[in-house]
Amino acid sequence: MDRKTKIFCLVSGADRVNTYVVACLKTGRAVIIDPAGDLQQVLRTLESERLEPVMILNTHGHGDHVAGNRDLKEMLAIPTAMHRADDEFFKDPQLRREFERILGHRCPDPVDRPLEDREKISLGGTEIEVIHTPGHTPGSVCFLCAGNLFTGDTLFVGAVGRTDLPGGSLEQLLTSLENRLITLPAETIVWPGHDYGDTPTSTIGREMQENPYITDFLLAE
Ligand SMILES: [Zn+2]
Ligand SMILES: [Zn+2]
Repeated sequence: MDRKTKIFCLVSGADRVNTYVVACLKTGRAVIIDPAGDLQQVLRTLESERLEPVMILNTHGHGDHVAGNRDLKEMLAIPTAMHRADDEFFKDPQLRREFERILGHRCPDPVDRPLEDREKISLGGTEIEVIHTPGHTPGSVCFLCAGNLFTGDTLFVGAVGRTDLPGGSLEQLLTSLENRLITLPAETIVWPGHDYGDTPTSTIGREMQENPYITDFLLAE
């Protein structure tokens, strides 16, 4: 782990979403990425580590990743944030009903802070950069913080997220991977939204050697 941040991975909910608490070691300020089912774990972590939560971030708007947004926002009195494209996308009532039927979770409420590509969120001693990586959803993002990349359902260890749901596009996802993710330093640590691989985390360098979506689709020629 780098010397600027402390990262806690809390697995929760029926869909076993990885909720991350990312804290700045210098200031103790923290964000919560994708709060899912068990918010008590989040609260216990914040308390035992004496962290000051500043924002709830979502990698995208799918119900399993935003399930804890509303309650956590109320409990901690901090704003929610996701990319502008997903905030807009999930406002459509018919689409919401369809997603709630398929995924079995409520779609997100409008967020307090719609995010833009390359926007930076400061934690005092370090910052989090928003990298827009559409494909799994129109507003999927990865969050980059001191060499740590939180990839949501865009990139898993050895795989990528599904693109068959409304708003998804494999072509777009591959373009995001090619232009925005494999261009990062090889040692960048990948922290996925679900533990679907043979290890809980990976690196961009390892994914470039082993992830078939990268080796077969992007690096094949
Ligand atoms: Zn998803
Ligand atoms: Zn997911």
